[in-house]
Parts: sequence; structure tokens; C-alpha cells
Amino acid sequence: MEKKYDLLIVGAGIVGMAHAYEARQRGLSVLVVEQNDRCVGASIRNFGFITVSGQRAGDTWRRAAYSAQVWKNLAQLASIKVLHQGTWILCERPEAAEVAKAFLKTEMGKDCQYVAKADYSKLDQFEVNPALSLNLENSVGLLYSPHEFRVESREAIPQLAQYLEKKRGVDFCWNTAVLSIEGSQIKTSQGHLSADKVVICPGASLTGIAKPYLHHRPLKLCTLQMLRVKVDEGYRLPGSVMTDNSLARYLGWANLPEAAALKERIAKEMPDYLKEGIHLIVVQSEDGTLVVGDSHRYGAYEDVFASEKTDQLILDLLRQVLNIKALNVVERWTGVYPSSDAYDAFIEKVSPQLRVAVVSSGTGASTAFGLAKDNFDEWLTT
Ligand SMILES: Cc1cc2nc3c(=O)[nH]c(=O)nc-3n(C[C@H](O)[C@H](O)[C@H](O)COP(=O)(O)OP(=O)(O)OC[C@H]3O[C@@H](n4cnc5c(N)ncnc54)[C@H](O)[C@@H]3O)c2cc1C
Repeated sequence: MEKKYDLLIVGAGIVGMAHAYEARQRGLSVLVVEQNDRCVGASIRNFGFITVSGQRAGDTWRRAAYSAQVWKNLAQLASIKVLHQGTWILCERPEAAEVAKAFLKTEMGKDCQYVAKADYSKLDQFEVNPALSLNLENSVGLLYSPHEFRVESREAIPQLAQYLEKKRGVDFCWNTAVLSIEGSQIKTSQGHLSADKVVICPGASLTGIAKPYLHHRPLKLCTLQMLRVKVDEGYRLPGSVMTDNSLARYLGWANLPEAAALKERIAKEMPDYLKEGIHLIVVQSEDGTLVVGDSHRYGAYEDVFASEKTDQLILDLLRQVLNIKALNVVERWTGVYPSSDAYDAFIEKVSPQLRVAVVSSGTGASTAFGLAKDNFDEWLTT
């Protein structure tokens, strides 16, 4: 290719795609270079669960709120289906109810609500009554957040790429690995390219092109197990569903002082779940199947061997929470993302021409547009 681009993006995951979108919004010419012939990384293996509530207070929550707006807009423009809206968190422990109520008092709790068991008769006001599809017998209350929604990532990410190419003038170069970057000269497996600026969005490929710039970052890899299950014909989720150990895990809730008692109780009651980092997220696809997860195993490398015991723990939780009779696993897969205890995401400013953008937590589908916005708002004005 002879053309010199304003910006070259390495990686066509959601972080690369969000950078392409935000860069075009600012009038830059953009080329995305991806080593595979489509995105096959975390961005298509996730739940497609675009979340705001539960994101860590501060930058991550702010980026999620912004990203949700962009996603909604792009979903319309790119004909990406929004499959369901809102999240229900089943509180089975009184300690979880305390976290939910404390959350409502923060700015992040705006428009969310807690429905105590005594008020379950009011649940029929919702478009899909959660009492019909969830087993509420052992619950003390439900936390509801209206902010979340779901897309089918394995379809949505290719649709987004196509939209960016056809309607926003982003060029894509697939099946091409970026091998080295020297100033504006980029060597790839298909020849040389040239761009004024480069942003590497490597996802979990930490040993490749981004490695020289990340050695001081304390990053691990987190491997997750996921399942797709077929349940009773006509079964309908009321929205995304989570169990109350999510309130002890997601930092927007877990960092509240009220979460200490919940964490203590979960450590006693669910040691097997804690060991594998399991909590329940359930979302639904257009064909009625449910995408269910997840577990979190941390290490220096991707754990390629999925454990049946972990899958069974996830499925046990699912059976407890949903009003279902049939349950057949139709797909299993793992996914991996970089993880840091210190931050959810970061921009490594290597030089005035080169940056690396990494989401180092399981939040990239929900925050990537906000991360890209922050990156350009600062980069293009310095
Ligand atoms: C199982 C699972 C469930 C999740 N659920 C959710 C969720 O519901 N909600 C949420 O917000 N987040 C979720 N996440 C997190 C989210 O999916 C990730 O944070 C996000 O997808 C990361 O996007 P990315 O673009 O950085 O990485 P990726 O999607 O992995 O993309 C990186 C791309 O860079 C390419 N690349 C790397 N090096 C090169 C090179 N040298 N040359 C060319 N190309 C290169 C790779 O091939 C890859 O396609 C989940 C993650 C997993 C694994």
C-alpha cells in the first residue's frame, strides 16, 4: 500500500475498533491491521454484555457510561441487534441487599432500584416480569439496573468492522501481522506500511509487538470458561442476570464498605466458587439459547485446558437461579484477557507517534469507546 495514513491501529478487537471510530470522528485517515482474517479474540468470545453498573467508580464507570451511548448509536447505524436491556441481580444474602442499597446512594446508582421481597408483586410492572423466569424463592431482594444491554459479539464485531469500512472510511488490512514499528515505518507480514501515528491494541498478545513497551506493567492473563445452553422452549430472560457474588466481585459494588460483610460470607459459603473466580452472568441470544459464565483463572499464560468441574459449578448456580426444566450445553469455549490488580485499563505513551492501549480487566466491551476517547482527547492536543 502506497497511502500514508494519519493513524495505523494494530488489532481489530473492540479496543482497536473503538480507536478507529473515535479517530474518524476527529477526521483522521485510519488503517486497522489485524493478523487474523477476522477478530477471533476476547472481543467475540465475551458475553456482549455492555455494562455500566458495577464498573469501578471513577474512570472506568465514566468510560462505560460514554461507551454505552456510543454503542447504542452505532447499533442503530450498523444494524446491530440489541437483544435485551437491563440487569437483574438476585440478592440471596441480606449482606448483598445492604450492598445494593448502599450502591443506590452513590451517583452510580442513579435510575437503578432495589426491589425487596415484600414488593415482588410490583415486578409485573416490568416489560418481562423476572418472577416468571427467575427462582426468587431463596432471595431477599433484587437489584435492577436499566443501563445495561446485550449484543451478540460474534456477529456485532464483524458488523461494526463492516460499518466502519463501508460508512466511515476506515481501511482494514486482514491476515497481516505487524512485525515492527520504526517511526512512521511499519513492517508487516505483507510488506511495509506508513503512518504518522500508531496505536497498538494487542489484547492478550502481550508477548508480541507490544512487549517492549509493557515490561514495567504488572500484567497477568486471565482465562475464562463460557458455555452456551439450550433451555426450555419459549424461556425468556428478563434482561441480563447475575448472582449476588457478583456484588462481591465487580468493583463498583465490591469497593463499597458495605461489601466487606458479603465478601466474608461468600468466602465461607462458596470456597470452590471463589477459588475459580466463578460468579454467574446469564444473557440470552435471539434463538433463545443462553450464554452463561464465567470463571477467572489467573497466570502468566493462557490456560488452554477447560475444567469440567468449573463448568459444573457454573451450571449448578444456573439451575438454582433460573426457573427451567431443560438444560443442554451446546457450546463451550474459553477466552483470555490481560489483567492487572492496579488498573482496569491504561494507555502507554511510548513516543509522540506511538501508543499502546490495553484494557487490563474484563471490561473492554463496555469501556473501549471511552478509553479511545480519552486517548485522543489528550494525544491530539499535545
Ligand atoms: C470470556 C470473556 C467474557 C467477557 N465478557 C465481557 C463482557 O461481557 N463485557 C465486557 O465489557 N467485557 C467483557 N470481557 C472483556 C472484553 O471482551 C475485553 O476487554 C475486550 O474484548 C478486549 O478487546 P481488545 O481489542 O483489547 O482485545 P482482542 O479482542 O483480543 O483484540 C486484539 C486483537 O489484536 C490482534 N493483534 C495482536 N497483535 C497483533 C499484531 N502484531 N498484528 C496484528 N494484529 C495483532 C489480535 O489478533 C486480536 O484480534 C470478556 C472477556 C472474555 C475473554
